[in-house]
Amino acid sequence: MSYVDEVLQNVIEKNPAQPEFHQAVKEVLESLRPVIEEHEEEYRKNALLERITTPERQILFRVPWVDDNGQVHVNNAYRVQFNSAIGPYKGGLRLHPSVNLGIIKFLGFEQIFKNSLTSLPIGGGKGGCDFDPKGKSDREVMAFCQSFMTELCKYIGADTDVPAGDIGTGAREIGYMFGQYKRIKGVYEGVLTGKGLTFGGSLVRTEATGYGLLYITEEMLKANGIDISGKTIAVSGAGNVAIYAIEKAYQLGAKPVTCSDSTGWIYDSEGIDLALLKEIKEVKRQRLTEYVKVRPSAQYHEGKGVWTVKCDVALPCATQNELDLKDAETLVKNGCVAVAEGANMPTTIEATEYLQQNGVLFCPGKAANAGGVATSALEMTQNSERLSWSFEEVDGKLKEIMINIFKNIDAASKKYGMEKNYVAGANIAGFLKVAEAMMAQGVC
Ligand code: NDP
Repeated sequence: MSYVDEVLQNVIEKNPAQPEFHQAVKEVLESLRPVIEEHEEEYRKNALLERITTPERQILFRVPWVDDNGQVHVNNAYRVQFNSAIGPYKGGLRLHPSVNLGIIKFLGFEQIFKNSLTSLPIGGGKGGCDFDPKGKSDREVMAFCQSFMTELCKYIGADTDVPAGDIGTGAREIGYMFGQYKRIKGVYEGVLTGKGLTFGGSLVRTEATGYGLLYITEEMLKANGIDISGKTIAVSGAGNVAIYAIEKAYQLGAKPVTCSDSTGWIYDSEGIDLALLKEIKEVKRQRLTEYVKVRPSAQYHEGKGVWTVKCDVALPCATQNELDLKDAETLVKNGCVAVAEGANMPTTIEATEYLQQNGVLFCPGKAANAGGVATSALEMTQNSERLSWSFEEVDGKLKEIMINIFKNIDAASKKYGMEKNYVAGANIAGFLKVAEAMMAQGVC
């Protein structure tokens, strides 16, 4: 049995009932085959793949908190410190009822390679909790965040592990968590990113993942002789990534016509009204049904359906496995030329393969949405320097990082004879740096 197959089998046996983690490991290791074969003896002797697929540390803890009626609730929380070969653990905190250890491990594993691709010194980690901030009062969210951080603060620090936002964890939650960390530890340090601008946050961090997604999509299209200007774009999600992807799409002259949340989706033939979307989602925290009440050009549909809309470019920006084989077939039939993943692993393996086989340019999440973590790393740098850079300076660095990521994944795909396979390119480019650092640091 090949080394890759052996490790894949082990991962499945040792991590039962974690399908998302199996899927992420399979996707990475399959595309690394040519690289692993080149170094098989050395990697096998050093158990490199066993080590890279096993978290350095997994922390599981309970989070008790009291609701507005005096009722006590208990949630399950996780922090997976996956790999620190190239820097302190870095990765977001997801607050969503679907969170479990397998999901946090898949996200932490992906994060290792994503962070490596940014070219910045950050290792991979991820955390979260099955708490749902939706429908909770501000006081309840604060009570949860304070209890969560009371335990988490024992394991994180500006030079060891620096969490950030993710689904359900926005500026409000990061603020409450930062306040509690400071209170318990008695230090003012850059232990979290995505902070408010008045207490160490970086300009552009809010916009970074969506903007970065569009910068790399533009670059990928350009490298294939296509101009993004004038293109129709289908976006899923209506959260942080989706909103700022829509904003930058307009700035680049494209027309985003869809968005969605967990109950339904919008098609707006005139293009999504960005100010209205921000008001509904960022200010009032309402459902998308509110959008059609004031926008005659828009239709609202219950359930899932964004990928049935005719588009040139598709940007999945909601959650994992939201674009399946049937969706991929519809996109191809409708003439879609490119898919770039704003969310983490939103495309199933079968759908990714179908898109690639049918000539659709495909940029995987670990490259396409790396702008968020890259800007988080820039926030860490500003915190260490006790300085704040201007919007233009951070945005300029973000754009440069995204263009470099595309160049690196493009070059890696060509070097290993898989031109235009940006999935393989991203996995290979991300892996090689981490592998070299791990080998240099000995058995640890
Ligand atoms: P938000 O919580 O701001 O928004 C998530 C959006 O996706 C919401 O519109 C939400 O709808 C929808 N959604 C969430 N879960 C589901 C589901 N199970 N089915 C359908 N829709 C769903 O999160 P972000 O925008 O920050 O994150 C989106 C994705 O991008 C995630 O995969 C995240 O890991 C990834 N990502 C985020 C980064 C960041 O900087 N924020 C960085 C890199 C990746 P509703 O409000 O109804 O739940």
